[in-house]
Amino acid sequence: MNDWLRSLEGRFPGIVTPIVGGRSYEGREIFGLKISFGPGRKGVFIEGGIHAREWIAPSTVTYILFDFLTTKNASVRAVAESRDWYFFPSINPDGYVYTQTDRLWRKNRRPYEKCVGVDLNRNWDYHWMEGGASNDECSNMFAGGSAFSEIETKSLSEYVNSLADTLDTYLAFHNYGQHLLIPFSHDESAVPENNDELHRIGKATIESLSVRYGTNYTVGNWHQTLYISSGVSVDWAVGTHKIRLGYTYELRDKGEYGFLLPPEQIAPTGQEIVDSLVRMFNEADK
Ligand SMILES: [Zn+2]
Repeated sequence: MNDWLRSLEGRFPGIVTPIVGGRSYEGREIFGLKISFGPGRKGVFIEGGIHAREWIAPSTVTYILFDFLTTKNASVRAVAESRDWYFFPSINPDGYVYTQTDRLWRKNRRPYEKCVGVDLNRNWDYHWMEGGASNDECSNMFAGGSAFSEIETKSLSEYVNSLADTLDTYLAFHNYGQHLLIPFSHDESAVPENNDELHRIGKATIESLSVRYGTNYTVGNWHQTLYISSGVSVDWAVGTHKIRLGYTYELRDKGEYGFLLPPEQIAPTGQEIVDSLVRMFNEADK
């Protein structure tokens, strides 16, 4: 997949730049693409695959970036050209490779004393281990030995730090459940300063998402919509860097197939998410 992503630089010269945003425990690159149609744009950071088994996430991030490069649709093209995009389809590459063997693996692949792996979406340095995370190495929600104990989150967060002044959006892709989650996850009373704006834009976003295939999402603050969590990437991005728009997508479906979403749903998921992003950024620019 990285070879294919890298090949896009030659197909779209001057627009696509390959980026190594970090490293994994087993030495793989956390590989991404910057897509920019010109100078002076605000930045959008998009990550997928932090949870290894959520295969629709890397597929969807890849779908979005390819559609932004090739679309003939004027409204998609306008949004694509309005910002700089940092696409990282698979930020837990060791876990993703391991799901070829153990399909439902969630964490990274660093061995601890009793068990293997840290839940990388509980390891970010923002209210780390303040609920919905575990200090049991064998738990699927093991938060790691300390905040940013894992090279994947540590190295990628340093890359995000280097961009932070230019970023106005941070999006994370997961499945499943069909939710659009607004920070924060750790405390029922903690919400971003622009919580009302995030709800307004979020409602419009899921409305446009549903038009093409009738796929219904809910929008809300993470802790109300799902459950308390802590140490998650979007909370860190919004909480630490005051990035204006931060959302976590929980993609299809609502549990019929769950993590094993069939391949024929890849393209429809990508299409409806592009629809939703067009609306998100049109609303944000109003
Ligand atoms: Zn997930």
